[in-house]
Amino acid sequence: MKFESRSLYLKKRFPLRISRGEIAGGENLFVSVTEGGLTGWGEMAPGASEGAATVAEGAAQLQAFCEGGLSWAIHDIWDAARKAGVGACALAALDMALWDLRAKQAGMPLYRLLGLARRGVVSSLTVGINPPEVVRERVPLLLARGARALKIKLGSTDGIEADKAMFAAVVEAAAGSGAALRVDANGGWSLEEAREMMGWLAARGAEYVEQPLVHGAEDQLPALFKDRALPVFVDESCRFSSDIPSFASCVDGVNLKLMKCGGITEALRIVATARAFGLKTMIGCMGESSVSIAAGASLSALFDYIDLDSHLNLDPDPAAGAPFDDGITLPADRPGHGGTLRHA
Ligand SMILES: [Mg+2]
Repeated sequence: MKFESRSLYLKKRFPLRISRGEIAGGENLFVSVTEGGLTGWGEMAPGASEGAATVAEGAAQLQAFCEGGLSWAIHDIWDAARKAGVGACALAALDMALWDLRAKQAGMPLYRLLGLARRGVVSSLTVGINPPEVVRERVPLLLARGARALKIKLGSTDGIEADKAMFAAVVEAAAGSGAALRVDANGGWSLEEAREMMGWLAARGAEYVEQPLVHGAEDQLPALFKDRALPVFVDESCRFSSDIPSFASCVDGVNLKLMKCGGITEALRIVATARAFGLKTMIGCMGESSVSIAAGASLSALFDYIDLDSHLNLDPDPAAGAPFDDGITLPADRPGHGGTLRHA
């Protein structure tokens, strides 16, 4: 099996501001594994918290690991790569490329190889942290794009009054659309702020809140959970399936991302673990093109909530294969996960 990688710059249509800063674009690593004339594709969006801060770091980790050969089962490759110190986001790229190749070799879409339906729920489209006047312009563009749910980024460094002003602008701009309003604080609130905001948001129709408290403050989750006004999902606090037992009794659900967990192999374990604890499941994304989004969308049938939208905010998306239809992100109906580079 031949392993190759290349990097491409992904430019965002609208820069994304969240509680931790603003991103206008970045280099992603695209990997391919080729065997018998068929090629599987994978993608890494780098991140220091995900084990490879740059494409160079991720490429070096994968190159070193793949020199040992890739002729084993995918689950064994996953375990060996983690043991060898390959970062989660780099491993995600290799793992989804291997699943893509195996599905192509089987001549079937990846969702079918995994025993799943080609089915999803509506995907949230993201509204980054912006002043109210920008929000009033941005939300109609997302609704025109077909959004049936919005994920509103709060946790502004300007405090919860700024969060309230922004959320109120979203409510105003989305009035009459019927779009579901979800909130992601990205760990931007204290316990007291989270309590206040969750009551305030519940009264204004928000559906749930994601990562209200900063990663590391999980010991405060029981206090927040016991009289919560909204369902609580964790994202940054949940990387691997082994994280789930420690907070399972004080959250309503978990948000997994392929870049955080190391790809499809571990995503399946996270879903199984979450279900065993009676938790809801969500899949989200980092700054990914249609390659990685298509890989995630192949698992769509497993989730209660879906945020697979980063490819829609690229200008241009260097890849194709994750159509957004009637508010739902699905994999293309062809062998593999469906995602490919446009100029491979
Ligand atoms: Mg999140």
